[in-house]
Amino acid sequence: MPDRTDVIVIGGGVIGCSIAYHLARAGRSDVLVIERNELSSGATARSAGCFSHARSDRSTIRMISRTRAAIGELEEMLGESLDFRQVGCVRAVVGEERERELLDMERCLAAEGLPVEVLDAAAARDLCPWLEVEAARRIVFLASDGYLDGARLGHAYARAARLLGARIVRGVAARGALVEDGRIVGVKTDRGELRANWVVDAGGVWGAEIARWLGWGFAAAPTRSHYWITAPDGSGAPGRPNVQLPDVRAYLRSEVGGLLVGLQEPRSRTYHPLQLTADMADMPLIEEEHDLDLLVEQAGRLRAFIPDVDRWGFAHHIAGLSMYTPDGKFLLGPTPPLPGFLVAGGCCGSGVAGSGGFGQSIAELIAGTPLSIDIERYRPDRFGDVDPASSAFRDRCAAARSGKSRGRVDEVA
Ligand SMILES: Cc1cc2nc3c(=O)[nH]c(=O)nc-3n(C[C@H](O)[C@H](O)[C@H](O)COP(=O)(O)OP(=O)(O)OC[C@H]3O[C@@H](n4cnc5c(N)ncnc54)[C@H](O)[C@@H]3O)c2cc1C
Repeated sequence: MPDRTDVIVIGGGVIGCSIAYHLARAGRSDVLVIERNELSSGATARSAGCFSHARSDRSTIRMISRTRAAIGELEEMLGESLDFRQVGCVRAVVGEERERELLDMERCLAAEGLPVEVLDAAAARDLCPWLEVEAARRIVFLASDGYLDGARLGHAYARAARLLGARIVRGVAARGALVEDGRIVGVKTDRGELRANWVVDAGGVWGAEIARWLGWGFAAAPTRSHYWITAPDGSGAPGRPNVQLPDVRAYLRSEVGGLLVGLQEPRSRTYHPLQLTADMADMPLIEEEHDLDLLVEQAGRLRAFIPDVDRWGFAHHIAGLSMYTPDGKFLLGPTPPLPGFLVAGGCCGSGVAGSGGFGQSIAELIAGTPLSIDIERYRPDRFGDVDPASSAFRDRCAAARSGKSRGRVDEVA
């Protein structure tokens, strides 16, 4: 451990490691990532790895496209495949509002030069034999979508960053901030003080604790996401596209011969941001009885699109937390009251897909070079002063996550 560096990144998940890679790639290799557990062991390890460009603003599409480009660079630099499966994605919508959203997305995707093909129900069934979308108003195929292992991407960023001269240490916890003359000048760690010109909060769901050392209210809530994986029964044969069914808040993709089925809860559960255990593995995220009831209820809704769903055997259930903001957009950039402090979080369930854009934008902000992506909409202070621990604020985040105007917070942690 040095005692001084140019940039300290707190957090060695996919975002922190992408920042280190992009800084080093831009020739700014005096960067130190500190991670208190293992690299990519937090939300990144639990990600479903879906890589979707289906967004209704061009900046977010560009954030994701940057990740796609970074994957190619990493593969070349490391001389190995990261197994990005570019299988495309079928998105089918039934409701009028969902159709309007989809048409907006299509306009943004077209403006970014990404292909969108309109399908009929028979063509969709050819791609996914278990899918019944006769009732859909509109069905599209996004050829640029796919999936990959989020932790594998995180480790690839880390290895490439190290090859370019960045330092990444595990087993070191940041415990506080060093502030002098109204500027952040470093962090206190359990191994002593570390001084730096820049400190980046890439602490994922623990990001609010870090921001609190500086008296800043991190405008996002740790929110539960979960998905189920069926037993390998051939329904997820390799090469089949991902599927998104926004009317029933479901997404599916192939996974070891079966299917990974993500179901957004009608009322997302948020957690107190200042009472989280230091390791996500110790968090009480699964409540078996309640979650099985939820699965039965949601499978009922899926039946309209997947008539055979009752015959599927669900073998695994994975849950994790990620940060959601009240408007479903990232938090990225400086926090005005404190020069030298940058935030890279509030990933809203898309941090793996958006990691390249996060890394590139932070590297450009630090270098003071023009930004490749307009990140104004992600300003961390856009919600004004917030109390991230309050039920009212967490309710707003839960509502955004559930795609509803009003959510409900179930206190767990
Ligand atoms: C169930 C689930 C499914 C998901 N599916 C998708 C998906 O399909 N596609 C997608 O793009 N995204 C998905 N996501 C979201 C994605 O996983 C996250 O947005 C992304 O992993 C966030 O990365 P991160 O680096 O910010 O956080 P993390 O991976 O959590 O990393 C933060 C790191 O900071 C470290 N840290 C925190 N505080 C300190 C400290 N004080 N000192 C030292 N280290 C510290 C932690 O130990 C941790 O390793 C999903 C998330 C979940 C939970």
